Amino acid sequence: MGTEKDIACLWQQLGKEDAVCFDVDSTLVTGEFIDEFASYLGVGNKVQEVTLRAMGGGMKFCEALKERLTIMQPTSTDLKTFAESEQLSLTDGVRRLVEVLNSMQVDIYLISGGFDQLIFPVARLLSIPEENVFANRLLFDEKGQYIGFDEEQPTSQAGGKGKAIEALKQRKIYRHVIMVGDGATDAEACPPADAFIGFGGNVTRESVKKLCSFYVYSFEELIELLKGEKSEIIEDVENGPKKVKSSSINHNNTTSQIRF
Ligand SMILES: [Mg+2]
Repeated sequence: MGTEKDIACLWQQLGKEDAVCFDVDSTLVTGEFIDEFASYLGVGNKVQEVTLRAMGGGMKFCEALKERLTIMQPTSTDLKTFAESEQLSLTDGVRRLVEVLNSMQVDIYLISGGFDQLIFPVARLLSIPEENVFANRLLFDEKGQYIGFDEEQPTSQAGGKGKAIEALKQRKIYRHVIMVGDGATDAEACPPADAFIGFGGNVTRESVKKLCSFYVYSFEELIELLKGEKSEIIEDVENGPKKVKSSSINHNNTTSQIRF
C-alpha cells in the first residue's frame, strides 16, 4: 500500500488521469444513513443489534443487509421522505475538497454500502454525477412496498467496495485510484485501490487506523496537501499512524517513482 510519505506524494500529484473514491457514511457525511433511517422508522435498536452481530463476524455482509432491511421494511415513501429530511450533514471541508479535486480534473466517485436513493442527494449536493455513485439499490413493488435489494450491485456483497473499484477501473484506465474512508471495508478496498487514506474526522476506529499508513482527522489536511503547501511527514511513535505537518515534502518526486 505504500508508506505514509508515498501516499502523501501520490495525493499531492493527483491529476486528470486519477480517481478518488470516497466512502459516504461517517466520511462525507457526519453519521450513518442506515442507523439514522432505522431510527426514523422506529427500529433503530433492533437494527443496531444486527449491525453489531455482523461486525462481530460469523455473518455474511449480504445476510446482514437482508436481515436489517427485513426489520426496517421501508416503503418507497419512507425512503423519499427520509432523504428529503436532511438528517445528516456534510462533514466540514467536503465541499472545498471536492472543488479543489474538480479544479485538478480528478474523477470523484462515491462508494457506499448504503442505499443509492440516500446517496444520490449527497452526490447532487457535491455536483458528482449519479453514474459515479456505487451503492445498494432497494427494490419496491408497484405499491411502494419493500421487496428486496438489487443483489447484482457490487456493494451488496462482502468485499463490495473493492469490486466497485474494479468496475470503475474497467470503465476507464486510471493512473491511480485512491480510496478515502473511515471503515474496515474501505481499507479492504486497497487493493484494488492503489492507496487508502483513513479518515477519522467523524469517528476514529482504532482497528482501521492500524490498517493504514496514512490517517487524517480532517479534510483540511488533505486540502492543504493539494494546495501544495510545504509539508513533511513526522513520526508519531506513540500514536502509530503519523500526521502531516507543515514543512517540506519533496515536490520533485514524480508519480512514476511511486509503486505500490
Ligand atoms: Mg463509513
